[in-house]
Amino acid sequence: MRTPRPVLPVIAFLIMAPFSLADTYIHAGALIDGISGAPRERVTIVVDGNTIKRVAGGYLSGGADTIDLRGYTVMPGFMDMHTHLASQQSKESYTEDFFMNPTDSVLRSTVFAKRTLLAGFTTVRDLGDDGVVVKSLRDAVAAGYIDGPRIYTAGRALATTGGHADPTNGVNERLKGDPGPVEGVVNGPDDARKAVRQRYKDGADCIKLTATGGVLSLAKSGQNPQFTPEELTAIVETAKDYGFTVAVHAHGAEGMKRAVLAGVDSIEHGTLMTDEIMALMKERGTYYVPTILAGTWVAEKAKEDGFFPEVVRPKAAEIGPKIKDTFARAYKAGVKIAFGTDTGVSPHGDNAREFELMVEAGMPPMEAIQSATMTAAALLRVQDKLGSVEAGKLADLVAVKGDPLRNISLLRDIKFVMKDGKTYKSPDAN
Ligand SMILES: [Zn+2]
Repeated sequence: MRTPRPVLPVIAFLIMAPFSLADTYIHAGALIDGISGAPRERVTIVVDGNTIKRVAGGYLSGGADTIDLRGYTVMPGFMDMHTHLASQQSKESYTEDFFMNPTDSVLRSTVFAKRTLLAGFTTVRDLGDDGVVVKSLRDAVAAGYIDGPRIYTAGRALATTGGHADPTNGVNERLKGDPGPVEGVVNGPDDARKAVRQRYKDGADCIKLTATGGVLSLAKSGQNPQFTPEELTAIVETAKDYGFTVAVHAHGAEGMKRAVLAGVDSIEHGTLMTDEIMALMKERGTYYVPTILAGTWVAEKAKEDGFFPEVVRPKAAEIGPKIKDTFARAYKAGVKIAFGTDTGVSPHGDNAREFELMVEAGMPPMEAIQSATMTAAALLRVQDKLGSVEAGKLADLVAVKGDPLRNISLLRDIKFVMKDGKTYKSPDAN
């Protein structure tokens, strides 16, 4: 039997209460919201489920739950536009395919994913693996089976025969074979179209191609052009048909210029970027994803005897250190810069070192943070739901103790991580 309820007082309470009883109130000492040029002091971020419902001045009371970050600076969750969650460079990297099963790779990648999330990176764009591992990782994170960042994956990168992402470079004759579009190796516009369609079929989120030689592949040149303009155009046109953006690995100028002219969305590394290419990128709105960290890290490791194979070592020593200067010039020239690290070259979880390198090279801390939030969200075309702390956006929030605008290195010591409204790290819990 039903007990009569005191309906009127409940209705009156609901009308008076500004927020629902399930809201979490986050008291932030300072808020860098991803858009404004200056932080706001003393605000309450109201989170309802997985969404930011409101950002209010002052410390409001009355939420179902309150998270005290009054001594902290809260920011949008960071977004790394260039990771490789399936791997991490080591002396064994070139041979591990022969002794690791795909399941070994997947289990290892779950550890890398968790480190990435706890370092404050709530979203990543993963630019190349064997096409299987990161897709499974993405889906397992989305389903809530494991803790990790929200992942957008390119699957297998595209290359031409012998090109930077040809998976059989350096492999012995019996195993080398002749990989084609399914494996990511294209020769000619028809192959290029097929490779993009194959990635659509495989469930990729974007396209990655290697327009020039690269540092870590077992091949001589780190910078020669490796696609024809016709092949690049075929990839970009087909990618547009399927709603993909196109990310392009490029060190040398000729391959980079061809890619920009073909209409790709981002240039990764961009090591030998000329003034002419910078002007073209500005004109066309092409993003630059610098990965200074990868360049710095491989240059450090090139000094170590036996770390890299001998064909790789001189490329790492030569190309690595140049990225920081290129970044400084591109920033001054006004090229749009989205944060990316190429982590998986350097160790997972160290992604925020990139912020320090960007600031050292002349970018103000606020702009470095925006490159990893609002600008990255725009490159991913998810700026309607990620990249800033505003009403209606997904509740992806991170915090550091103190002021990262005064000390950028604080970003390497993240104290609070919330993704999709769920708290993964909190000073309260420590
Ligand atoms: Zn990469």
